[in-house]
Amino acid sequence: MNEKRDYYEILGAARDASPEEIKKAYRKLAHQHHPDKNPGDHSAEERFKEISEAYEVLGNPEKRQAYDRFGAAGAGRGFEDFGGFESGFGNIFDDIFEGFFGGRTGRPTRGAQRGADLRYNLGIRFEEAANGVEKEIVIPRMETCQACRGSGAKPGSQAVVCRACRGTGQVRFSQGFLTVSQTCGQCRGQGRVLEHPCPSCRGLGQVKAERTLTVKIPAGVETGTRLKLAGEGESGVRGGPPGDLYVVITVQEHPIFARHGDDLYCEVPISFTQAALGAQIEIPTLSGRAVLKIPPGSQTGTELRIKGKGLPNVRGYGRGDLAARIFVEVPTHLTAKQRDLLEEYARQENGAGSPLVQGFWEKVKALFD
Ligand SMILES: [Zn+2]
Ligand SMILES: [Zn+2]
Repeated sequence: MNEKRDYYEILGAARDASPEEIKKAYRKLAHQHHPDKNPGDHSAEERFKEISEAYEVLGNPEKRQAYDRFGAAGAGRGFEDFGGFESGFGNIFDDIFEGFFGGRTGRPTRGAQRGADLRYNLGIRFEEAANGVEKEIVIPRMETCQACRGSGAKPGSQAVVCRACRGTGQVRFSQGFLTVSQTCGQCRGQGRVLEHPCPSCRGLGQVKAERTLTVKIPAGVETGTRLKLAGEGESGVRGGPPGDLYVVITVQEHPIFARHGDDLYCEVPISFTQAALGAQIEIPTLSGRAVLKIPPGSQTGTELRIKGKGLPNVRGYGRGDLAARIFVEVPTHLTAKQRDLLEEYARQENGAGSPLVQGFWEKVKALFD
């Protein structure tokens, strides 16, 4: 391919290298490949040219900014990695933002471009999901640069027609018998280049900004609920509309309650005497305690419901129930007195009053007779 190599790559410099580092890298390489030191070596000469060309751009702050914006490296590099600006935001972007439905990684187009949609992952407590809550979130995002109003050109200047492609956005070159047309590397297919990039935004047309938003989270949301804040994504490019912000909810687990739809489930252990004799116990709800009546003879797995003590329906259709699932605990440590009493009870029991036990042995008997 007749493709130009990346200037940073040529100099072996990082994209965020300081001007001093660039200069140092250039000097070292230029010294090494200087034609005077390599007489007759054609490849060294080519290399020296390449190095000089790269330094001509990267060694000049304004040209470097424009290069960072539009590049000169030809096709094959995605739009997304032109952005040195991503590194400026560091891990915040990586951690909580993902390009959602394209936008940021979209192909360069010449006209207005809609801003990228953003995704913000928000963790909330179980109670907050149940009762609804207002949360302040801080979103780092790209906003239209005020200095140049998003044009990217230094105030008073304008983008000019790209000389490399004469404004077509495409360049042609011959490769053997073929004429190949590819996206112009000087302007990245835009057809225009900035001779004087806006100093505030380095020609991006957008600046990094942090915006604090208050998000109203309705009662009844659950993990995976997606709230859309229209127009709160990144600013559009060249007058395009802004993207949307999606707040995606993750609800923390509750130590006692589990959730099934709008119903709350809670496993309640009771003693075997409470199960046999019946009892009134207090169980937790999302709004304080409530009395739960355990009927005599309740088994493990019995589900007792308290109406309307579940979660509010997120669409406003009433509230779910609180379902207490009974779990009968068999005592594991008996005092001498308790043992005596239970042995006495066992003598009294004599199989009567245990329909499950009796039913089982009747079936077993039927099997072998
Ligand atoms: Zn600007
Ligand atoms: Zn061009």
